[in-house]
Amino acid sequence: MRICVYCASSERINRKYFEATERFALECVKSNVEVVYGGGSSGLMGRLADVILANGGKIKGIMPKFMNDVEWAHKLVADMEFTESMHERKAKFLVDVDGVVTLPGGTGTLEEFLEVFTLKRLGQFSKPIIVLNTDGYYDPLKVVLQRCVEEEFMLDRHMEMCTFVQQPEEVIPAIRLAGDWNEDALRFARLT
Ligand code: AMP
Repeated sequence: MRICVYCASSERINRKYFEATERFALECVKSNVEVVYGGGSSGLMGRLADVILANGGKIKGIMPKFMNDVEWAHKLVADMEFTESMHERKAKFLVDVDGVVTLPGGTGTLEEFLEVFTLKRLGQFSKPIIVLNTDGYYDPLKVVLQRCVEEEFMLDRHMEMCTFVQQPEEVIPAIRLAGDWNEDALRFARLT
């Protein structure tokens, strides 16, 4: 299995987020899951890569060239791909992945999550999207999505496009359980 992981670049966040990321990274290694991520060395991105590499797992970074120029790339990630733009990077994140995981993060992570969520709604992406809601960090995001449903900006069924889990160990089982967004659902998403 190969998954794309979106997560924070900030170093200043609470250690509970680093601990959850470490546990998630170990689960990926244990389950022989290859991770594709933003290629960074800081924050949760850095910790994710450090733990995967230290335990013999597989990780690939995809980063725009300008970030490499300012030395944001993780020096130990051998499999690195550099793109011309942020847009190209985001498109490459989703090639041949079996699922997308959103760990806690800031605006960059939120933007990446909302893009893939929207792509799925429009039938352009069919794989599971999992949100790791460490200590309720993403409760407000869930509220915003539910508000979209209440006010009829999307249908209740669109909430099925992503799964919120509380513990890092729940992420990979949630990907397996969610399965692909099937053809009926794609038609449904496009029509509404
Ligand atoms: P955020 O969740 O706001 O920390 O954003 C994470 C995303 O922001 C990454 O996928 C990158 O697009 C970008 N980013 C911001 N700072 C860095 C950094 N120091 N190294 C790598 N990527 C970064």
